[in-house]
Amino acid sequence: MTTIACIPYRRESNSRRIVMNSDAILTVGSIAIDWLEMPDGTEGEVLGGSATYFILTASQFAPVHVVGVVGSDFPQEGHDLYKIHTANLDDLQVVDGKTFRWGGRYHENWENRTTLFTELGVFGDFKPAISQGNRSCPFVFLANIQPSLQLDVLGQMESPRLVITDTMNLWIDTALIDLKKVIAKTDIFLLNDNEAEKLTGLSDPEGAGRELCQQGPKSVVVKLGSRGALLVEDERTVPVAAYKIDSVVDPTGAGDSFAGGLVGALAAGDSLIDALIVGSAIASFSVEGFGPAGLFKLDKDELAQRISVVRNLSKLA
Ligand code: AMP
Repeated sequence: MTTIACIPYRRESNSRRIVMNSDAILTVGSIAIDWLEMPDGTEGEVLGGSATYFILTASQFAPVHVVGVVGSDFPQEGHDLYKIHTANLDDLQVVDGKTFRWGGRYHENWENRTTLFTELGVFGDFKPAISQGNRSCPFVFLANIQPSLQLDVLGQMESPRLVITDTMNLWIDTALIDLKKVIAKTDIFLLNDNEAEKLTGLSDPEGAGRELCQQGPKSVVVKLGSRGALLVEDERTVPVAAYKIDSVVDPTGAGDSFAGGLVGALAAGDSLIDALIVGSAIASFSVEGFGPAGLFKLDKDELAQRISVVRNLSKLA
């Protein structure tokens, strides 16, 4: 059994990434210390959270402004990583207490994941306060976090151009009323096929997407894991392929990385279809390493090559 005790992040430079000519994205999501257990016995503690995977990917294309909270136990490597991969941390609170912690165990088929524990820590009392300068960010990504927090953040924004939302099963079970309020205010709603079925009662992703389009979003993206994703709108349904990885190391955060590529590319001016292709391609890096390690090896040329493979596989011009 391999135990990885520390956060496997090595910075090459301490300077902030600068992305020109893209619109700013404001995001709220979990910033976590994860405990992960893989089917081959690999286990360990890594930096995690929906916002972490999102900033690592979206920051390749656009400036990201973060809303969130960490505790006094948040490691220096985590602070460094957030400094490098964001444009603005004015609304990141550092408070006394414990950082959000989540534990997950994967089973042989990767599709099944057991949550071992969820400890909200400082997220339990978190009250987001968006600074004046951040309220006008044109793109808002509500990463997976309590729907009440997503609503709170959205309520403080000044007419964003595009609101993109992600969620998870837990909130369908425990916070459905708030989640439906968030969906009603969302332009592009992301969820996986299990969540789509749970939310609508429809096992067919296209039917579920169509049903969700009636609840507010113009576009629904149903993520299908290694089978790619399906964009569903009133007028069209578009399948987007996945970039196949032979040996998956850890699928944690693939959905958040997909979202990072998608929202980052939209903020850089791509069409929705092009941005979905970017999301699919970039998510493939995420599954190649333990925790976020696969994203630390993200290479621009390799990404461009994967984008072109996904475009061809999806048979999209
Ligand atoms: P994904 O694999 O895309 O579902 O994302 C995994 C990330 O979600 C992990 O890094 C966790 O820290 C984070 N996560 C797990 N449960 C929750 C939760 N209840 N709220 C917010 N983030 C969570």
